[in-house]
Amino acid sequence: MHINVSQQLTEPVGSVRSYKVSEIIDVIGDGNGSMVQGEVSLIRTNRGILAKGALHTAVKVTCSRCLSLFDCPLAINIEEEHFPITEVSSGTAVPLPEEPSGFTIDEHHILDLTEAIRQNVLLVIPMKPLCHEDCAGLCPECGHNLNQGSCGCLPQRMALRWAELSKLASISDISANKRKGIK
Ligand SMILES: [Zn+2]
Ligand SMILES: [Zn+2]
Repeated sequence: MHINVSQQLTEPVGSVRSYKVSEIIDVIGDGNGSMVQGEVSLIRTNRGILAKGALHTAVKVTCSRCLSLFDCPLAINIEEEHFPITEVSSGTAVPLPEEPSGFTIDEHHILDLTEAIRQNVLLVIPMKPLCHEDCAGLCPECGHNLNQGSCGCLPQRMALRWAELSKLASISDISANKRKGIK
């Protein structure tokens, strides 16, 4: 998302411009574009331009439980100051302030929002994404995706458990009977 801010850089501090964002951006660098939508305000500061906005997108991520790929919706709030590297009137180089983020406006006075969007997306991607809150996950026995129905392992395991339990039960029956003096 490129915005030419040469005009705004000549305006007084506090001048605001609003832009609608609707663009496909490769936000997680996997070669797949994600539609990013929302609104961004550019505010002239004494040092550059503050980009502030609320955006939303969806990125393809792997469910941490069932390992399927799904579109994870994300809300992004951006508030990043961008600093010009050249003076707009004279064209001379401007020393950059020592900021850890250090987003820049290039020598053609183009503010590229892509990097700010990308960095903020990375902050909000969940560590353990879930395709659904109640994702059933994979069967620990056969790896079947349990969201697509049962695989048959669970009833089998239950049956085994019951068999063991009933064995135990019959043993305790015998000992109980012994105590009661029946055989
Ligand atoms: Zn899942
Ligand atoms: Zn199974």
